[in-house]
Amino acid sequence: MTATDRPVVCLDLDGVVWRGDEPIPGAADAVRRLRTAGVPVGFMSNNSSMPVAEVVAKLARFGIEAGPEQVLTSARAAADLLTTTIAPGSRVHVCAGPGVVEALGAAGFEPVRDGPAAAVVVGFHRDFDFAALDRAARVVRTGAAFVATNLDPTYPSHEGLLPGAGSIVAAVATAGGRSPEVAGKPFAPAAAMVHHRLGPTGVMVGDRPTTDGDFAVRLGWPFALVLSGVCVPVPGPGEEPVPEPAPPYLADDLAALVPRLVADLGP
Ligand SMILES: [Mg+2]
Repeated sequence: MTATDRPVVCLDLDGVVWRGDEPIPGAADAVRRLRTAGVPVGFMSNNSSMPVAEVVAKLARFGIEAGPEQVLTSARAAADLLTTTIAPGSRVHVCAGPGVVEALGAAGFEPVRDGPAAAVVVGFHRDFDFAALDRAARVVRTGAAFVATNLDPTYPSHEGLLPGAGSIVAAVATAGGRSPEVAGKPFAPAAAMVHHRLGPTGVMVGDRPTTDGDFAVRLGWPFALVLSGVCVPVPGPGEEPVPEPAPPYLADDLAALVPRLVADLGP
């Protein structure tokens, strides 16, 4: 899909299409119904660690066909942002997962794990440790461009609540002595990427009011909140309440949301 003048439905992934490694029932059929009605569908995730090909393969496993150009991540937003701030081919220090390495390479940068660099990108990775913190903070202190993929403090998994990218970013920012520019939802670089790569108008569908809802505001699009993720009537740790007033679209899940999206966005 290239950017289109037709209104787009932009789907968050975790909590909308899948929950961890389980598909959310009805999501694949919902995407099919949107496309059959002529509504273009794209995907925007703050998960920066999975390479795009892995996201495409996971979607396919759950019955959803998507081209790599339809799959946007905070890693791609970070790489897009750097194309406007540092020279092509620059060394970029990666304190993040494989998705960031892939996105930087695709944008023409040289991802490195050590030594001098024009920029530092910090994102979620499970092998973060003291040595990685030390290396990243040293590059931040040189005055290099400092980009965080996203600031999500935690995320829910089958192991319970895990530290998110924001926890790692906080460590690097503290040791490095300054704050990063943030690329992912709900910040401006991700909005510029969605407008550029998916289209100027649409609806943002997500499960997290503080990221997806604020991102919809940033996009200038209506927010469609689904209750299949972290937003629940009685929130616990890492969960969020349904905002008051409720967003323009509110549904139990993507399948329940589709009839209204088709009525409002279809031809
Ligand atoms: Mg989500």
